[in-house]
Amino acid sequence: MTVAPKRHARYVVGVDLGGTNVRAAVVDIDEKIVGQARAASDARNGAAAVVAALARTVREAIIDAGLTIDLIGAVGMAVPGHIDTYSGEIRWSPNFGEYTDGKFDIFLHVPFAGPVSEELGLAAYAGNDANVAALGEFRYGAGREVSDLVMFTLGTGIGSGVVSQGRLVVGSTGGASELGHVIILAGGRQCGCGTFGCLEAYCGTSAILERAHRAIERNTESSLWSRIEGDKTTLTPKLIDEAAREGDVVALSVFEETGYYLGIGIANAISIFNPSLVVLGGGIRKATGLMAAAERSVARHAVHSMRTTCRIVEAALGEDAGVMGAAELAWSKMGSA
Ligand SMILES: [Zn+2]
Repeated sequence: MTVAPKRHARYVVGVDLGGTNVRAAVVDIDEKIVGQARAASDARNGAAAVVAALARTVREAIIDAGLTIDLIGAVGMAVPGHIDTYSGEIRWSPNFGEYTDGKFDIFLHVPFAGPVSEELGLAAYAGNDANVAALGEFRYGAGREVSDLVMFTLGTGIGSGVVSQGRLVVGSTGGASELGHVIILAGGRQCGCGTFGCLEAYCGTSAILERAHRAIERNTESSLWSRIEGDKTTLTPKLIDEAAREGDVVALSVFEETGYYLGIGIANAISIFNPSLVVLGGGIRKATGLMAAAERSVARHAVHSMRTTCRIVEAALGEDAGVMGAAELAWSKMGSA
């Protein structure tokens, strides 16, 4: 069953689905969040449980907005993993799965937008979370004035989204873009994706922590030792940043090196997409010295004629990026349905 979107509706619901929580926001035609709800996403008990948790949260958000479900045009969803935005299937997502005989099977080729649509009686569309965040920044955030942007979402993993000539680049099966898995050092560190030398393996949170561990082992005088009371397992990016802000040279070197590698990834993206804007999202972007180091590295590695017309800026939407981008996914699909 395919539910058609209500083209003249004044509201959509944007859903930010993660491995821990699901958040739904009702967004009106004037880009305002008018109601919202949040719940646990029940990510490890199979597809039916995830769909049920998501649908419940959408209904609660609609009630919070003082509306009824018939006034909603469509539901857009931001989902981590390889999301086939054409078929609505989750092709691959390690954030979700279910236990069978004690073994955890991640989602592989799991129908998703279809079951959500049937459960709610609304048109439903899904996209990769980083792609959806890029769409949100393009429409409502840092990229409002441009037609070409590349966004990197920095965190445990490194997500990315590309808008080219006003259109989100999704590729043939929704898998584009994964700039976190572009190889920046052949035969380099192993990445969570299984291959070697990816940007994520050099700039993801665990890479930053490993870099810090190595750095403090060589520098017993670093103030980081007293911050972690000698226990390396308690080290966090936040603690490293606090030390960096106070001028700890070891902490500063960690972000300098991270920024160097990030700059290579950004330079590659500039060479491929010729964007006028690179948007950096994720809390780590604010780490002391990271952006400046990335800019210096971009200057060394990017094609000069394209670098000079490209600005690197911080994301503007903050924690609303997921739901606002998902709402925009819904509006854009409604417009083209
Ligand atoms: Zn990788």
